[in-house]
Amino acid sequence: MTSACLIKVRGVVQGVGFRPFVYRIASELKLAGWVLNGEEGVAIHLEGDDRRVEEFLVRLKSEAPPASRIVAIEVEPATANGFQKFTIKESERKDRPTVRISPDLPVCDQCLEELADPVNRRHDYPYINCTNCGPRYTVILALPYDRPNTTMKDWPFDDYCYREYHDPGNRRFHAQPVACPNCGPHYYLRAGEETIRGDEIVIQRTVELLKAGQIVAVKGLGGYHLACDAKSAEAVTAMRARKFRKEKPFAVMVASIGDAGQLAELSAEAIELLTSIARPILLAPAKVELAGVAPDNRELGVMLPYTPLQHLLFEAGAPSVLVMTSANRSSEPIAYTDEDAFDRLTGIADAFLVGERPIARRVDDSVARVGALGPAILRRSRGYAPGAVASFPLAHARKPILALGADLKNTVTLVVDGQAFVSQHIGDLDHYEAFRAFEETIRDLMTMYEIRWEDVLLAHDAHPEYRSTVHASRLAAAEKIPLQHHRAHVASVLAERGAWEQKVLGVSFDGTGYGDDGGIWGGEFFVGSLVAGFERVAHLRQAALPGGDAAAQYPVQAAAGFLAQIEDLPNLTDAPFSFPGRYHTALQLVQKNVRTFPTTSTGRLFDTAAALLGFTRDITFEGQAAMWVEHVAHGAGSVEPYPFPFVSGELDFRPLLHALAIDRRKGRDASEIARAFQVGVADGVARAIRSLAADHRVNLIVLSGGVFQNEMLLEDLKLKLKDSGLELWTNQAVPANNGGISLGQAALAAFRGQARC
Ligand SMILES: [Zn+2]
Ligand SMILES: [Zn+2]
Repeated sequence: MTSACLIKVRGVVQGVGFRPFVYRIASELKLAGWVLNGEEGVAIHLEGDDRRVEEFLVRLKSEAPPASRIVAIEVEPATANGFQKFTIKESERKDRPTVRISPDLPVCDQCLEELADPVNRRHDYPYINCTNCGPRYTVILALPYDRPNTTMKDWPFDDYCYREYHDPGNRRFHAQPVACPNCGPHYYLRAGEETIRGDEIVIQRTVELLKAGQIVAVKGLGGYHLACDAKSAEAVTAMRARKFRKEKPFAVMVASIGDAGQLAELSAEAIELLTSIARPILLAPAKVELAGVAPDNRELGVMLPYTPLQHLLFEAGAPSVLVMTSANRSSEPIAYTDEDAFDRLTGIADAFLVGERPIARRVDDSVARVGALGPAILRRSRGYAPGAVASFPLAHARKPILALGADLKNTVTLVVDGQAFVSQHIGDLDHYEAFRAFEETIRDLMTMYEIRWEDVLLAHDAHPEYRSTVHASRLAAAEKIPLQHHRAHVASVLAERGAWEQKVLGVSFDGTGYGDDGGIWGGEFFVGSLVAGFERVAHLRQAALPGGDAAAQYPVQAAAGFLAQIEDLPNLTDAPFSFPGRYHTALQLVQKNVRTFPTTSTGRLFDTAAALLGFTRDITFEGQAAMWVEHVAHGAGSVEPYPFPFVSGELDFRPLLHALAIDRRKGRDASEIARAFQVGVADGVARAIRSLAADHRVNLIVLSGGVFQNEMLLEDLKLKLKDSGLELWTNQAVPANNGGISLGQAALAAFRGQARC
C-alpha cells in the first residue's frame, strides 16, 4: 500500500547532519518526498510503500547522526502529492532565525579514518570535518548558518569540495566549514623570528619542541591552549611561573581512554562523560601524581583530543600526557585571536602553532565530573554552549528575557520563544578583558537571534555595585528586574527540570551574594516555587565579615569575624595556629565595627575552618581554601561529626568551630579534624533540612551554589538523608556555581508577577 505522512522530529536535529541522513535513508528505501529544517525541528514528508515507511521510522531512530538527540517524533497522515523523488528543501524562515546554533563537535570516527588514510585527499589535514563533526559555534559569524556567514568565508571551495558540499548523498553535504588541503586553511609555526609552513612539518616541529620541554601555544576550536609535557616537572614549573598561576590545577590531554585510565580512576559513567559529544575536561580521582600539575588535589582534570590537530600531534609522537591549559595569564579570559595571542602570550609561550581559520568567539573547555548525585558541570562552555538548556512555558516567556548573571564565573542567558540559551563561561567581570567578553556575548546573542532592546525583559543581580548591575542600567531594555542571588541558584535547578510549580525547600550555599537586607548572604534556606516565589526560612548564624567581599582572598580575615563570637579559644597567634598579623587587624575592625559587614556565607565558614587547620596564607584562586579542607579530609577514616546545631531557624557555627580549634590545639590528626568538620556540616545541614521539610510539608530538596561542588558534602548529605523519604535535586545542565545564575535569573524573571523577590 502506498500512503503519505508528515513526520516531525524534535530535539537537537539541526546543524548535526540530520537532513543528509534523512535523505540517505529515504533514497535507500526508494521513498519520495522532502525534508526541511522547520520552526521546531526537522519536518519530513514521505510518500511510498507502507512497510518501507515503517522501516524508515525504525532507522530514523536507530541510525541517527551521533551529534543528534531526538526528543520526540510525531507522525501524522498527509495527502500524497505524487512526488517522484526525495529532496532537501530550503529552511523555513519566519520572523526570527529558527536554526538553533549547534555547539562545536569533536572530530568523528569517519573523519579520523580518512585523516589516517595515506591515500585520502584529507590525509593528515588538520581542518578535516563533515556534517557529523567539527566547529559550529566557534565559526559562526551570523545566521543563517551558511558558508559566507562563517569564518571560512575567505576560503572558496575547489571543485572537489564543491561537489561534496552539493551532493545530498555525501557526508559533507552542506557541511559549512568543509575544506581540503588544496582549498582550505593550514597551520603554521611561529618560533621567535622564524615562521615555518606546511601542516606536516609544523606538527612534527611542535612535537619536537614539546618533547624538549618547551611551552607551545596551540590554536584550538575556541581559543589557544598552552601545551607542555605534563611529565616534565621543569616544563610545568615554567608554565606556572610564566602564567602567574601558582596553584590552580592544570588540565591534561591524553590520546585515548586507555591512557586516561592510567592517570585517573574512571567509572563507566566517567568514561561516558569523558567521551561524550562535549568532550569536557573530566575531573576524576587521580591515580598518579604529576609534579606540579594539580597540587593539593585528589582529582585530576583529564580530556581527550577533540580536534583533528590534537589527534595529529599525538599521532606524530607528542608526549603522552600534555598539559593543555587555557592560554591566558592568571584569570584573564582565554586568548582567541592570533594578534591577542601573540601580544599576551609572548614571554609565556616559546612558540605558536597557529591555524589560519579565525575563531569567531572565545569558548573555553568545559569541566565536568561524575558527582554523588549524577553528572555535574563545573564550567559549561565548549561542546555545550550555546545549546538550549530549558524550555520555558510560552505563557511566561512571550517576550525575550536576557539575564546578565553574576559578576564571578559569569554567563548570560537569553530566552527566545521559550528556549533558554545559556552562553559559554565568560569569567570574572572585574577583569577588563572578561567584561569586554561579557559585552560582546550580549551583543552576539542579541544579534544572532535578532532581538530588539525595546522588546527585552532584562534580569540582573540585586547587588547595586555589581558590574553587571551597572551595565544593566545602561542597556535600553524596556523592563529591568533585579533578582536576589541565592534564589537564582535555587531557580536554576528548577528551570533545568521545567519544575515551574513544584514547591521545594531550596538550600543555597556559596561564598557571597547580595541579600534582601543588604548583607552578604551564602547560607540560605528557602521554601516556595517559581510561580509562588521563595521565602527565606532559615540561614547560617550571622557573623561579621571585616572588609566585606575582599575577605574572600584571606581565610584568616574571614576567620576573624566568625571566631570573634566564640569564647574560650586558644591563642591563635601561637602554634599550631600561627595566625599572621592580618588576623589581628581584621579582629580590630570587627571589634570596632568598622568596614565590617554582616554575613551568613558558608564559603567564609569553610575559609575559617581552613585557617584553623593551617591554611593561613592568601588564596590564589576562588574556592581554594574550601577545596583544601575537602582534600585534607579525604585522608581520614570514620569520625564523629563536630556539633552544628540547628536552632530557631539558625545553623549555629560556634560549637562546630570551637570543637575544631580545641582538637587542633590538642594535636589531633589534621585529616581527622577536617573530616569531623565536613561531616559536622553535613550533619547540621541534614538536620535543618529534615526539620524545615517537615515544618513546611515539602519532600523535594534543591541544593545549589558553589559550596555544593564539595563532593564529600554531597555524599555525606545523601547518606544522612537516605531514609528520610526526601528527594535531592542538584544542577545537571548548568553549574551549581555562579555559572548557573543567569538561567535562574531568567526563570525568576519569567514568573516575576508572583515571585516575592
Ligand atoms: Zn566528521
Ligand atoms: Zn577542497
